[in-house]
Amino acid sequence: MLHRALCPLTLLAGLAVATPCAAFAQSARDPIPIDEIARPSAGGKTEGKRGPGKPGKVPAAADRPRLLVLIVADQLRWEFLTRYAPDFGSDGFRRLMEQGAVFQGHYGQQNTYTGPGHALIATGSYGYINGIIQNKWFNRDAGRSEAMLFDPGAKLLVGETTPEDETSPRNLMGSTVGDELRLASPDSKVVAVGLKERGTIALGGRMGHAYFQSEVTGEMISSSWYMQALPEWVKAFNGKKPTDASFGKTWDRLLPADRYPEVDDSKYESDVKGLGRGWPKKVTGKLAAPGPDFYTAFQATPFGTDLTFDFARAALDGERLGQRGVTDLLAVAISPTDLAGHAYGPYSQEMRDVTVRLDRSLGGFLKELDKRYKPGEVLIAFTSDHGAVPIPEWSAEKLNTGHRLKKASIKETVNKALSARFGAGEWVVALEDPSVYLDRALIASRKLDPAEVERVAGEACLALPGLSGFHTRTQLLNGWVPPTRGANAVVRSYYPARSGDVVLVQAPFSFWGKYAEKDHGSTHGSFYRYDTDVPILLWGKPFTPGFHGETEMVDLAPTLTRLLGVNPPAGCEGEVLEEALR
Ligand SMILES: [Zn+2]
Repeated sequence: MLHRALCPLTLLAGLAVATPCAAFAQSARDPIPIDEIARPSAGGKTEGKRGPGKPGKVPAAADRPRLLVLIVADQLRWEFLTRYAPDFGSDGFRRLMEQGAVFQGHYGQQNTYTGPGHALIATGSYGYINGIIQNKWFNRDAGRSEAMLFDPGAKLLVGETTPEDETSPRNLMGSTVGDELRLASPDSKVVAVGLKERGTIALGGRMGHAYFQSEVTGEMISSSWYMQALPEWVKAFNGKKPTDASFGKTWDRLLPADRYPEVDDSKYESDVKGLGRGWPKKVTGKLAAPGPDFYTAFQATPFGTDLTFDFARAALDGERLGQRGVTDLLAVAISPTDLAGHAYGPYSQEMRDVTVRLDRSLGGFLKELDKRYKPGEVLIAFTSDHGAVPIPEWSAEKLNTGHRLKKASIKETVNKALSARFGAGEWVVALEDPSVYLDRALIASRKLDPAEVERVAGEACLALPGLSGFHTRTQLLNGWVPPTRGANAVVRSYYPARSGDVVLVQAPFSFWGKYAEKDHGSTHGSFYRYDTDVPILLWGKPFTPGFHGETEMVDLAPTLTRLLGVNPPAGCEGEVLEEALR
């Protein structure tokens, strides 16, 4: 093979060659298989953290999958795979873990929220590149806080659209795995399905289609970014009113009560629209007939998981995914794990039950795939967008640490400190965790140095329980950060046009933001391991079964694009998981 590499070099060096070199002479008679061109040379990578390794493999066109199924369970900690393992059946997680390649994925950015997590999975890039750095941000042009995936030019197909709604991937910078697939293979389809907009929009990318559930009608809908009207298969699905069929159903524990060692009905648990803290749970949203509160409750239950997989099956049929002679991508976003996690925390009976029931639903879906596709035609990648922090009051009992910090106290602290130093004023214009947005017009009108104002604001916050540090905009833009893993995680989550003037760092087991405004339940969003570590399960012909250790989550996207035979996403900075490939 060496002569092939040498010939172009010889030509570049300007050396006269009287006759065509051996490689060109050979290629005229004996074409080199095109797939070998992209195949790394023996010895593998010579740069990067993986170092020299075995040769990577680019599958020949005929060996590429017909269907890549990317399943992202929202808020599923890595450790759930071991802690709940005794309760798993043989067809779901156990099958993927025993037959597939298993990694402990790690999010190397601070802002481990749903939007940023799904964006990182889809693009293989951090927030400082893909722009999805928080779930909400303060849009200085619009003068208001908006959902990070809100697009004023796109409307939900059903119901009113507000800046609280996610409507398009316009703010997602660069390309996704699905976008690269469609750029290389225009006939390929990319379909993302789930209950919540955030996850499906990021996974669907700029060139795919995303479907999610209307919080008003419970129907599966989309936005005007993707289409003006729903396709017939979606209308047919909605016509059966599958969500409303769960109205009045009861969610009880799947397994005998003694299989749930967690304390139940803790006063720190939330009640999601009448689901309550104990068992069993009646799913009505406290309504007499299906309506928005019922849909909110529904989305926190295993019935929501089942509906998601049912809709995924409808998408397989409706779009004939994997049956058209090209590679398609189906992304499935599972939200009930997140909504139950927020309400009951990662050490609750509800979290165990919703995960164990996901295991059963996943098993059923995998069996469906077995029936529909021949061996080798399907690749499955399962992962999660972030982990979860325990409920702070729970942590306070167990660990004697953990705080729930209110926005009002941050605002008051910053306003007080800046007023004392620079004169009275309303200095804070918005708080969207982990960003503090300051009034830049006020800073300019008083001819102050923004760097000093930011620093004073950050220093003042250090007095608050639950915070352990801060970084200012000036520091971050100038690279003035300590050489720590935590600071690097903050840098990776900082997108100058959208991030705040001060970025707060929460102490372990503490948090602030939407879920800290309540007095119960939990969340995620830090660079601590309970939030950053999630499973990566890769199943299919190209993967070497077994546990392959820890890896960065940005490595998933380029591994998938390698197997699809397409370019890595534009901003991708991960490395192919060579060790997992046969
Ligand atoms: Zn999430």
